Amino acid sequence: MNVTMASEQAAPTGATAPAARIVNGVKVYGAGVTAVRALDGVSADFGAGQFTAVMGPSGSGKSTTLHCLAGLDRLTSGQVLLGDVDLGTLDDKGMTLLRRERIGFVFQAFNLIPTLTARENILLPLTLGGKKPARGWLRELARTLGIADRLGHRPSELSGGQQQRVATARALVTRPDLIFADEPTGNLDSRSATELLNQIRRAVPLRAGPAGTGTGPGRERDPVRYEGFKCR
Ligand code: ADP
Ligand code: MG
Repeated sequence: MNVTMASEQAAPTGATAPAARIVNGVKVYGAGVTAVRALDGVSADFGAGQFTAVMGPSGSGKSTTLHCLAGLDRLTSGQVLLGDVDLGTLDDKGMTLLRRERIGFVFQAFNLIPTLTARENILLPLTLGGKKPARGWLRELARTLGIADRLGHRPSELSGGQQQRVATARALVTRPDLIFADEPTGNLDSRSATELLNQIRRAVPLRAGPAGTGTGPGRERDPVRYEGFKCR
């Protein structure tokens, strides 16, 4: 893997344990002569309150890293720790619960359910657990992300940028500890991409308190190549 990590931290977080950590991460897809070693001993710490961008060429293992950190996939060897939870010790049910309760994930391809309205898509992670959002939270999220007047529409009635903002609201609705976004702006034109990044920056502190969520000059210039996540 040949990737770069760029972190920013606007507020000091003290000497707390990293919010997320990958240690000697190895991921091999397939077996035998067709095996692909997507990660070859990756180690990185992601501190609480940081906004981190993972940058690298196509195929360098960015998505694989995010998927393994977010509990969507498992490492072949090595360790992923979220806070003090070692994902390797969780069974599939434990992983599902952890993902639902502690993690928000924004997929490049939106992954919205076409038959559900924007509101239903956003609330889905809560509905699945038989929960409802705290009073006013959906309205606040929708307003921050600029989709308050689109909540009754289905994905096919929304622009790409609006669909991506619905997907972002869905990732934030459970107030997760960690938010992972895999090229969240990859399908957007550069103006919508910059707008979405600004909106994520504004929305995350609603969950994450005063910790900074700014992006650096490199990402401002080239937002469509951004992949990253925010740790509370
Ligand atoms: P990036 O997100 O940086 O473009 P990926 O993490 O998607 O990179 O892929 C890293 C490598 O792993 C690539 O060589 C890719 O072809 C391979 N790969 C990713 N997913 C799979 C899979 N499910 N099966 C086989 N190979 C895969
Ligand atoms: Mg990728």
